[in-house]
Amino acid sequence: MDKQELLQRIFGYSQFRPGQEELIDGMLAGRDAFGIMPTGGGKSMCYQLPGLLLPGITLVVSPLISLMRDQVMALKAAGVPAAYINSTLNRAQMQLVYRNLLAGQYKIVYIAPERLDYPGFGSVAERLQISLLAVDEAHCISQWGQDFRPSYLRIVNFIRQLPYRPVVAAFTATATIQVRRDVEQILQLQNPVQVVTGFDRPNLYFEVIHPESKDRELQRLLFARRKKSGIIYCSTRRKVESVCQNLNDMGYGAVCYHAGLPDEQRTANQEDFLYDRKPIMVATNAFGMGIDKSNVGFVIHYNMPKSIEAYYQEAGRAGRDGSEADCILLYNGSDVYTARYFIDNSSENEEMDPAQRARVRRQELARLDAMVGYCKTKTCLRGYLMEYFGQNHPEICGNCGNCSGSFQTVDITKEAGIILTCIQSIGDKLGYSVGVNLVGNVLRGSRNKRVLELHLDKLPVYGLLSSRGRSEIHGMIDHLEAEGYLRTEQEHRTLLLTSEADQVLYRNKPVLMKVEIEPDAGVPAETSGKMAGDEGELFDELRDLRSTLAKKAKLPAYVIFSNATLMDMARKRPQTISEFRKISGVGEIKAAWYGQAFLERIRQFQDEHF
Ligand code: ADP
Ligand code: MG
Ligand code: ZN
Repeated sequence: MDKQELLQRIFGYSQFRPGQEELIDGMLAGRDAFGIMPTGGGKSMCYQLPGLLLPGITLVVSPLISLMRDQVMALKAAGVPAAYINSTLNRAQMQLVYRNLLAGQYKIVYIAPERLDYPGFGSVAERLQISLLAVDEAHCISQWGQDFRPSYLRIVNFIRQLPYRPVVAAFTATATIQVRRDVEQILQLQNPVQVVTGFDRPNLYFEVIHPESKDRELQRLLFARRKKSGIIYCSTRRKVESVCQNLNDMGYGAVCYHAGLPDEQRTANQEDFLYDRKPIMVATNAFGMGIDKSNVGFVIHYNMPKSIEAYYQEAGRAGRDGSEADCILLYNGSDVYTARYFIDNSSENEEMDPAQRARVRRQELARLDAMVGYCKTKTCLRGYLMEYFGQNHPEICGNCGNCSGSFQTVDITKEAGIILTCIQSIGDKLGYSVGVNLVGNVLRGSRNKRVLELHLDKLPVYGLLSSRGRSEIHGMIDHLEAEGYLRTEQEHRTLLLTSEADQVLYRNKPVLMKVEIEPDAGVPAETSGKMAGDEGELFDELRDLRSTLAKKAKLPAYVIFSNATLMDMARKRPQTISEFRKISGVGEIKAAWYGQAFLERIRQFQDEHF
């Protein structure tokens, strides 16, 4: 079988995604490979497919037990003989796996890095024909990344002690130069085929909301997405617990995940989410590495993360199967303080000398500033992200909150002048600068204690914007910052004028700002994705069928078919097995196992709708 045929017959896809083919060809020709692709880009395919074509077996080093189990399950469901080796196997199971391994019964075997130098495995490995060693989540080898795992360093020794060197391939979604260099050097990749694909994920919709109440906003967002599965990230354990509790009180099926929970509880919650028994996961950033659940329809950040890197990785867990998904961030100013707190109190810093610590802290503050910039920009959000990752992009993407909402441009020159004057005159009066809340209070004419104590109610600008709401004023201040007339001082988060401010204050430069006309623009249509009514209904039925089949087979639903596959089915309505085979994501084995059931359900639906 050639690779094209394999792609179709086993995995059910008719074409390769960008970068896949080049990497696969390299490995098949005996070269090392290094694939840098965004989350959801299809990295697994890059080693699974050659693994099936090469003689002997492919070993896949993978950092997380849940990820291994998932991938092995998905491979088996597609008819590929696969297994994993990690600490969840008991002695008897382990011996069975070793026996099967030696008998040549597996093509693809996932292994935890710390198992590589177990004596038991070493003696088995010597006798195997290992054609390919794939290192997934390869950034774990770099101390520069957030996910450094010392056990990854063992990979190198393991390769060295094999009777001959297999093809070595590394995959990661982390794009920074430092991490890339580390992976290449530490793993000692030999002249690898290297592919860096674009980081854009066109199926993801990005939006930043500055709500008055995050809880109410969250409720609104979830109601509009109540048929979907999603993740809500919060920055602290306490917030995770309270948001999760709230959602359950309101009748949503939510579970939580954070490092403070007992292991068993955490695992149980994770599985409830993966198996779609609970549609919503509320978690800290401890959740997610290696989570390959493909039908995550939204990722909502209840709090702002501390960097764009972290944000893009977490948000990127939405829509991995390529169907439309939403990445929404709920921002308010206090998120910046929380993020700052984490930067100042991070435990990693304790092992560094003061100079190193200061440097790291500066870098982290700069990253935080970029993140805050994302929350405040009025330009295309996707564009902002691509810019950050050094990638070209069109000015308007048409699929983010800043491009697609119904916006209207308003002239805020007068208000801008008042705001800038206010900041300047507070500074002149006090001799130091103050934060956004106090500036807002002065402009609104608030009788707030601090305003009165500092006699700011005596300023000529006091109360000049009293007809405006608090969030409106904050919105304008954010806009002035995004436009470069203001900046936030890093240390104390106070507002300072830049030299550009003179243009507005003394040269009558107009200031324009986009404002949303329709506050409900974020609510998607009731049906799934962008499907028409009937299609949406059929999709829901197919989803029900999928979950029935999944329960019977004790598999997570997305292992049977992804949402993208079900949507394609709802759209094309295949009538025969051969038409069914043409649906994206339907391979030979799955067609044989599930084809009849789905065809029947489609036929039934059509009978009822004519
Ligand atoms: P990554 O590891 O890069 O984050 P995965 O390997 O988990 O991404 O793949 C994400 C999704 O993309 C999976 O559902 C997978 O089946 C799908 N996929 C992979 N290759 C293709 C392809 N050529 N065509 C369509 N879907 C694909
Ligand atoms: Mg992956
Ligand atoms: Zn956009």
